[in-house]
Amino acid sequence: MSIKVVIQGAAGRMGKTLIRCILEEKVSGLQLAGAVDLWDAPDIGTDAGLAAGARKAGVLLTTDLAAVAPDADVIIDFTSHFGTAGNAERIAAWNTAWVIGTTGLADEETAEIQKAAKNVPVVMAGNMSLGVNLLCKLIEEAAKALYAKGYDIEIIERHHNQKKDAPSGTALMLGRAAAAGAGLDLKTSGMNGRSGMPGARKKEEIGFHAVRGGDIVGDHTVLLAGTGEMLEFSHRATSRETFAIGALNAAVWLVKQKPGLYSMNDVLGL
Ligand code: NAD
Repeated sequence: MSIKVVIQGAAGRMGKTLIRCILEEKVSGLQLAGAVDLWDAPDIGTDAGLAAGARKAGVLLTTDLAAVAPDADVIIDFTSHFGTAGNAERIAAWNTAWVIGTTGLADEETAEIQKAAKNVPVVMAGNMSLGVNLLCKLIEEAAKALYAKGYDIEIIERHHNQKKDAPSGTALMLGRAAAAGAGLDLKTSGMNGRSGMPGARKKEEIGFHAVRGGDIVGDHTVLLAGTGEMLEFSHRATSRETFAIGALNAAVWLVKQKPGLYSMNDVLGL
């Protein structure tokens, strides 16, 4: 029996990539059961596979999540922070597993997801790729070894010119990993960009720098800068397929789990 998947945000960059990957069976055992976006999205009412640039799916792009999600096994959500948080209560009531790739959620929006995770299994991750989740582990180790020896931690992220949130969800994941290794709290250590006269850098700062331009899929570099040397840890996404395949693998794993909030580390066994 195939796992029935609803793609929420189906007309977006990630939504289309997810639909293509399901139809091309990049991860096996999945069936596209619904494709949902907002009323003003292009191609509403047309075949979701064709709209994604793939073969005909036999599933129409719709605006009505309630019409497709209660009977599905899992919803994969790559939309916007308010859309994701706004659906938490009804997804919890439908009992449908929920993979969330959407980034930029405020603390009170994340609290809505945590509430839903009491009823349904949820995987939430700012980056679904194997490489970035492994990199987080390496950064935690590096920060543990080097922060106390005086190395400064800075994170530079680069994305396409349509990205709405900054710093990126991935940069924040890397920042949290660095903070955990260094024994810092990212809420007080995080520093978004610098301008004017911020003065000398405080030791406990973890700086974030967001570059936006062109069609960059997602580049992240973590610097550990000491005296006389600097380490650079970099990840470059060359295609959105790495996130989509990660999200589809998360869906396969998630439908077998009990309610709770999980990360990609749980999915990947890292
Ligand atoms: P996009 O703007 O191309 O697509 C988002 C789509 O969601 C749009 O079509 C929009 O109309 C739709 N949408 C917004 N609110 C909705 C709602 N309430 N219901 C239904 N549809 C809704 O953006 P994108 O590049 O596809 O990225 C989407 C999100 O995923 C962003 O938050 C981005 O940062 C995040 N992202 C995460 C990962 C990851 O690995 N976790 C990777 C890439 C992007």
